[in-house]
Amino acid sequence: MEFDLIERIRQRTASHRDDVRLGIGDDAAVVAVPSGRELAIAVDTLVEGIHFPVGTAPADIGWKALAVNLSDLAAMGATPAWALLALTLPTQDEAFIDGLAQGFAELATPFRLALIGGDTTRGPLTVTVAVHGFTAPEEALLRSTARVGDVVMVTGTLGDAAAGLRCLAEADPSPYGELIGRLNRPTPRVSAGQALRGIATACIDVSDGLVADLGHICAQSGVGAEIDAALLPRSSAMLTHFHDADAIDFALGGGDDYELCFTVSAERAGDLAADLARLGCGATRIGRVVEGQGVRVIGLDGEALVPSRAGWNHFTA
Ligand code: ADP
Ligand code: MG
Repeated sequence: MEFDLIERIRQRTASHRDDVRLGIGDDAAVVAVPSGRELAIAVDTLVEGIHFPVGTAPADIGWKALAVNLSDLAAMGATPAWALLALTLPTQDEAFIDGLAQGFAELATPFRLALIGGDTTRGPLTVTVAVHGFTAPEEALLRSTARVGDVVMVTGTLGDAAAGLRCLAEADPSPYGELIGRLNRPTPRVSAGQALRGIATACIDVSDGLVADLGHICAQSGVGAEIDAALLPRSSAMLTHFHDADAIDFALGGGDDYELCFTVSAERAGDLAADLARLGCGATRIGRVVEGQGVRVIGLDGEALVPSRAGWNHFTA
C-alpha cells in the first residue's frame, strides 16, 4: 500500500532542482548545499482536531502543513529549498492523498521547493513537514536581538485566522470565506522575511498569538514591549464582521496568523514599511521595545489591557 501512496505523492509534487542529487525513492535523500551558505531547518506537526478542524479539505491540510513550516523559515529570513513529509493516515484513502499532495504542491511550486522524502504510517491523521532553507552566515533573523528603543512592527493583518475559526461554527459560514481562507491557507511571508535581513533587529512568526510570540522575543532579548491596541492592523473582512473588542482579542491572542512580528530601529522603520508594501503584505508599526520584561498592551481607552487569552499552549489549553 505504501508504495502506491508514495508514488502518488511523488508524481503530484514533482519539481526539479539541480541541488537534489537523490529525491524520493532511496533510503535517504541526498542534496548539495551551496558553498558559503548555511542551512536553516524547521519541523512542525499538524494533528487533526488540534491544528486543523475535522473536515478540513485535504488540499488545505497539505497547503497549511507546508505553510506553517515556510513561515518558520520566513521568520529566519531564510530561502526555502527542500522539504520532508511524514504522514500518518487512518486509512489508505487515495483521494485524500491526491488532495493533500496537490495543496502542498500549490504552495511549494512558486518557491521552487522540492519534496525530497518522507515517511508514511497508519494511525490518527497527523501531518509533519520538515523544511530546509538557506541563510548566509550571520544573516539569520533571531528572537534574541531586539534593542530598547526599537519599534515593533507586524506584516499583513492580525486575528483573521482566529476569527475564521469562530465563523466556521456559524450555521452559514459562506459570508466569512476570506477569514476562513486565512485559517485554512495562511500565506507564509517568505519574501518579507528576506527583505528584513540585515535591517530588522529581531523577528518571529505569529503562530500562537501576538502577545505570546512577541513575548518570546522579549524573553530571549531581555527586554519588554508596549503594544497599542489601536494600531493593530485589521483586515477589511475583520472590520466588516467583528466589533473592535473582538477584533483586538483575536489579534492579540488568536493563533495561526503566520504574519511576521519584528523589531527595527525607528530610523529604518519607514523605509522597511515601504519595501514590504511593495511586496504586497505591508507592515504596520504597533508598538515599541522598552526596558523591563513582558508585553504590555495599551487598550483603546488608554488603559492597560489584559488579553482575555494568553496564546496557545498545548499543555495548558
Ligand atoms: P524506509 O523503509 O527506508 O524508511 P520508506 O518506504 O519509508 O522507506 O520510504 C521510501 C521512500 O519514499 C523514501 O525515499 C522516503 O523518503 C519516501 N517517502 C515515504 N513516505 C513519503 C511521503 N509521505 N512523502 C514523501 N516521500 C515519502
Ligand atoms: Mg520510512
